Amino acid sequence: MQGFALNDIFKIGIGPSSSHTMGPMHAAQHFLSGLDVCHATEPYRIEVTLHGSLAATGEGHGTPGAITAGLMGHHYDTVTLVDIELAWEIAMNTGRLQSLAGHSIQFKPTDALHRDTQPLPNHPNGMTFKAWRSNEFIAEAQYFSVGGGMVEDQEGRALATGDLVDDETPFPYASMDQLVAWCDSEDLSIAQLQAKNEHLCLRSESRDAHAITLWQVMSECIDRGLSTEGELPGGLRVKRRAAALWRRLLSNSQGGKAPANQAQRAMVYAMAVNEENAAGGRLVTAPTNGAAGIVPAVLRAHLDEHRLNSAGINRHVSTFLRTATAIGSLFKMNASISGAEVGCQGEVGAAASMAAAGLTAVMGGSPRQIENAAEIAVEHCLGLTCDPIGGLVQVPCIERNGMGAVKAIAASDLALAGDGQFMISLDQVIDTVRETGKDMDSRYKETARGGLAIHGLKIPVTAVEC
Ligand code: SF4
Repeated sequence: MQGFALNDIFKIGIGPSSSHTMGPMHAAQHFLSGLDVCHATEPYRIEVTLHGSLAATGEGHGTPGAITAGLMGHHYDTVTLVDIELAWEIAMNTGRLQSLAGHSIQFKPTDALHRDTQPLPNHPNGMTFKAWRSNEFIAEAQYFSVGGGMVEDQEGRALATGDLVDDETPFPYASMDQLVAWCDSEDLSIAQLQAKNEHLCLRSESRDAHAITLWQVMSECIDRGLSTEGELPGGLRVKRRAAALWRRLLSNSQGGKAPANQAQRAMVYAMAVNEENAAGGRLVTAPTNGAAGIVPAVLRAHLDEHRLNSAGINRHVSTFLRTATAIGSLFKMNASISGAEVGCQGEVGAAASMAAAGLTAVMGGSPRQIENAAEIAVEHCLGLTCDPIGGLVQVPCIERNGMGAVKAIAASDLALAGDGQFMISLDQVIDTVRETGKDMDSRYKETARGGLAIHGLKIPVTAVEC
């Protein structure tokens, strides 16, 4: 393993769930694209079985609609809620889908979408796809939605989403120590090394198009969250608060300065993103949907502080997101970014760590100070359980993103005030996330059978994942 690409860790998609909405859509699209539909004269008949957590929470997280849209050829980075709803309506009413490429597919969800609450051995989020043509069975494949919208096949190979190619990465790393060693020997920053691993050479004046596109989507998501009021869907009657909190901050601003302080703004920005996620809005996984608010919030609050021209914004966005990508890769490689595997320490903890690293990088921190910031941020999320009320990514998730953003800023401050010498390494903390996750009772790992999920409200729920 040589690390992940920017577009693996940060994916443009839709809420509410990267593993239950985006991953299944990608799997369905991948299965269909592997069939020889171009030469088909008759429609394919498709059946899908959702296993484990996907079967238990599929309805609430939009998994059936996501699968249907994926079979039509939709991809999560461009699909809209309207596309998904339309695909679902057509499949339910006619049992026949016309793919975006013009091919005919027989798929009636009531007959062809099965649920098996027993998880497959590989991962709690499994899917089995089967295809027939003229009653002849022609294909079967299993996929696993392993967190953050990433999908693996039954051999454990990730479906390609990023730009890293095995054996062609100039600076492969599997630990923070290796990453820092490359930075030292090659005289590169973490962000530059990450870019070179994607075969990009980013000079100070270059425009990092991938990072800028991600930032535009992140930024638009913050803006929508700050200007939208009302109740979130799902039945918990949770009210959106970001818009009112933002107005409160604005009313305290003086002399055209960005209102309030960096941490206050970051908290509201993070909540704005996660309210949008809960409402099924467009966002960027960072590294998951449930923890999507922290990285954009800390980046936006930083940009507010520094009146940069567009080249400066470009440079800071690129440095921030590429540094965060390297840290997210380490979590993905050596622990997990799936709440079902390690609890919320792998989602909000990883996101806070990534944001702290990104902020320290744009503030001019050394690779060791960046490591220090990343380890402080996640160290104080160790043991954080996943126990969302009602099986919805709302309570405590929305506030938890706000707290994660504040923690990331504080961690970066502490690291920048230090000299890059510290006792616990990031590698040690990530190992601790993995081991703590293994020891964590399953009630606290997105089964909604423990913690706030049962003590916060007396609602019977099954399982959830973001
Ligand atoms: S509590 Fe669970 S569902 Fe909520 S953000 Fe954390 S990992 Fe995601």
